[in-house]
Amino acid sequence: MTTSEQLFEKAKTLIPGGVNSPVRAFRAVGGSPIFIKSAKGPYLFDEDGRQYIELINSWGPMILGHAFEPVEKAVRDAIQHSFSFGAPTRKEVEMAELITAMVPSVEKVRMVNSGTEATMAAIRVARGFTGRDKLIKFEGCYHGHGDSFLIAAGSGAMTMGIPDSPGVTKATAADTLTAPYNDLAAVETLLDNNHNQVAAIILEPVVGNMGCVLPEPGFLQGIRDLCDKHGVVLIFDEVMTGFRLAKGGAQERFGITPDLTTMGKIIGGGMPVGAYGGRADIMNLVAPAGPVYQAGTLSGNPIAMSAGLAMLHHLNEHPEVYTRLEEIGKTLTDGFRAGLQKAGLSYTINHIGSMFTLFMTERSVTNFTEAKSCDIPQFGRYFHAMLERGIYLAPSQFESLFLSVALTDDLVAQIIQANEESLISMMKD
Ligand code: PMP
Repeated sequence: MTTSEQLFEKAKTLIPGGVNSPVRAFRAVGGSPIFIKSAKGPYLFDEDGRQYIELINSWGPMILGHAFEPVEKAVRDAIQHSFSFGAPTRKEVEMAELITAMVPSVEKVRMVNSGTEATMAAIRVARGFTGRDKLIKFEGCYHGHGDSFLIAAGSGAMTMGIPDSPGVTKATAADTLTAPYNDLAAVETLLDNNHNQVAAIILEPVVGNMGCVLPEPGFLQGIRDLCDKHGVVLIFDEVMTGFRLAKGGAQERFGITPDLTTMGKIIGGGMPVGAYGGRADIMNLVAPAGPVYQAGTLSGNPIAMSAGLAMLHHLNEHPEVYTRLEEIGKTLTDGFRAGLQKAGLSYTINHIGSMFTLFMTERSVTNFTEAKSCDIPQFGRYFHAMLERGIYLAPSQFESLFLSVALTDDLVAQIIQANEESLISMMKD
């Protein structure tokens, strides 16, 4: 037994499923999860002393690679002044200033502790603002584990086959309407059939949580127009895409302005942080400015703010990070496509910037139904073949990979080689 296997056996007796977040358990790919001991730059190191090249990067945050020096230094400096005050700090003001500068649609912002908190709060504010109860989400999009969002949810909920979780009351579920991603007509029908009842439409402007799925041309603008027509608050969930697809997120890349934006992952530099923000007239409803209640003992935590600020300052001041991420993404996906060709496979790759997914299906993947056509056992074989070659992928077909600038050209070439070998070996299994 490896040390990871031993730890997992013990963990299962103490923690539900042995993990603190479902996808980590490797259920979708089989086998036992790797327990991580440390990480530096592009590498993860496990409890058995093995080294892996990182293609998840903590599901997004480590866009500059692990233990990036300026972030590490900011945390080291911050911990000398105690860990939490539960009182306002200068750093929170700096953070709000930086976020509003980088994401211009965000005029006011509130810090929270996770993406889940951000989406839960955003929907409450949208309901408070409109005086309406319902929300529209898209099948296969994941917005954290808030009750309202566990309806046709992607990511871990999808991987575990529990897209509609027990414990969510019927009344809550009834207020969440769902439409297929990229289907404007379906959204229009929902809005017509629920006239003046829909508070918000929430979506991932590029989906990461059913694998990487891009908005088709005109989709985001169409949603924006429908929201304007029906007086609905448009929420872009940029927990994954924020500060990744561009300095100002997917909204900058696609030139669409949402009313509210939810953020997480990168803004914490790896610490537990989320945020929601947007139009000042909507955000002014949040307590104590207004009547919509939302709070947090550890919100705006000084250590987390220090890590996040160092991360965001670096991204704001180094546009070449985004140029390099585009370059790595293109080289890798070109190489993966060449690998597929050599293996005689015509599987689908969806890619944008530093996010991509190799779908084990020959269909194009533009929505959840198409994503579900993938050959899941085949993905499991591919995942383990890559792992054996020291490449750490997301342990589920229904996830995007997240690249970091720590990947050198040599490492990119190694990953491409491993992909080709893995595809070929997977076909032999
Ligand atoms: N929204 C999106 C788009 C996400 O990808 C995630 C998490 N992967 C969340 C919300 C929830 O964030 P957290 O896990 O920090 O609660």
